[in-house]
Amino acid sequence: MTLRERDKKAIWHPYTQEKTAADNIVMVRGEGTYLYDETGTKYIDGTSSWWTNIHGHAHPYIAEKIAEQAKKLEQVIFSGFSHEPAIMLAERLLSILPGGYEKVFYSDNGSTAVEAAIKMSLQYWKNKGEERNKIICFRDAYHGDTFGAMSVSARGVFTDPYSRLLFDVVFIDTPDFSNEEEIKKQLRSAIRNNTSQIAAFIFEPLVLGSSGMKMYSAELLDDLIGICQEHKILTIADEVMTGFGRTGKMFATEYLTHATDIICLSKGITGGFMPFAATVVKGFIYDAFYDDEKSKMLFHGHSYTGNPLGCAAALASLDLFEREGTLNKIGDITKTHEAFAKRIKDNPTLRDVRQQGTILAIEFEVGQGGYLSSLRDKMYQFFIERRIMLRPLGNVLYILPPYCISGADLQAIYSAIEEFTAQKR
Ligand SMILES: *Cc1c(COP(=O)(O)O)cnc(C)c1O
Repeated sequence: MTLRERDKKAIWHPYTQEKTAADNIVMVRGEGTYLYDETGTKYIDGTSSWWTNIHGHAHPYIAEKIAEQAKKLEQVIFSGFSHEPAIMLAERLLSILPGGYEKVFYSDNGSTAVEAAIKMSLQYWKNKGEERNKIICFRDAYHGDTFGAMSVSARGVFTDPYSRLLFDVVFIDTPDFSNEEEIKKQLRSAIRNNTSQIAAFIFEPLVLGSSGMKMYSAELLDDLIGICQEHKILTIADEVMTGFGRTGKMFATEYLTHATDIICLSKGITGGFMPFAATVVKGFIYDAFYDDEKSKMLFHGHSYTGNPLGCAAALASLDLFEREGTLNKIGDITKTHEAFAKRIKDNPTLRDVRQQGTILAIEFEVGQGGYLSSLRDKMYQFFIERRIMLRPLGNVLYILPPYCISGADLQAIYSAIEEFTAQKR
């Protein structure tokens, strides 16, 4: 049996209708922007393997640092015990995050980073003697797949099977560049209609990823955070996708003048090598848990919290930002994307072309969009046949590349996109 056949027999893959999906392509090797399957076919990774990869696949420096750490200390219980890589990483994250954060809480993935943030903000109020159980979020938000994270996310195909079990949240419409005053009004009335009940406002800064790379302005977000601050509502920036250079700056919240109270990091944090996450908070949040009363502690933790290999990978990834001038590469990708966006934006098959830093999103005109649209499958297949890994979100095709991608590979992706738009459907 080939690896592909053995895979089909033994594995249940995420976000896949296994009956109708094509067989999974088994990758055996990665290098830079490329992945190689079991037959030696080379693919361009156009979406950084689910938005995780930053410096390229199998980067020898990160691999080396993980190996070094693995030979020294691979894992230790993180309650009652600690280790140097975790301490170094926390110090380093605190030094580069904008806005004066004071404590780092580790976990394993984006959803757990969000779960921790939600539990922190609910218990923050409880510990302060107030009952605040509601969270505000954008109608098209995506914050992960666990129950808390699903609850603060859009109600739709992702959450339908479990919808009755999700806790109530207060939705406000998703901002774009045309409805800013309306969004501010909605936030104000959401707060007014739930006086002293709102614990927090959680959002994806500047780009709502999974709902189709929906973008909005930093000015609006600043205003929304300002409104929350007037009402002492905690603000949670979910930078799981936007963190580590994705939007052009190291963190999307660097575009803001207001700082948020909690920030969630994962995906790119280890350069795409290890499952790892951090929920980073302001001192005043930590202080609400710091008490002689044991019951005021944060009741949250995972077996692999603060895993030393994850820490080593994250530290190595931050090293590479300095050693390889990664922010310059990000600047180059941004400019290249801008030029292509200009070239393609008037194409009649497109509804919208939008860009933020290294993310370029192209929304196709379709009768009915949505995550399950058939256009999505056609596009996916079209690019796979051209050995380009892109994973459209419904009718939204996007490029979100590793920062090491060459100009030639970007152009190869653009050409394939132009070829696709020229096709009759
Ligand atoms: C991917 C994502 C998550 C969930 O992260 P996982 O590691 O897949 O659990 C949460 N928030 C945002 C903004 C994301 O893009």
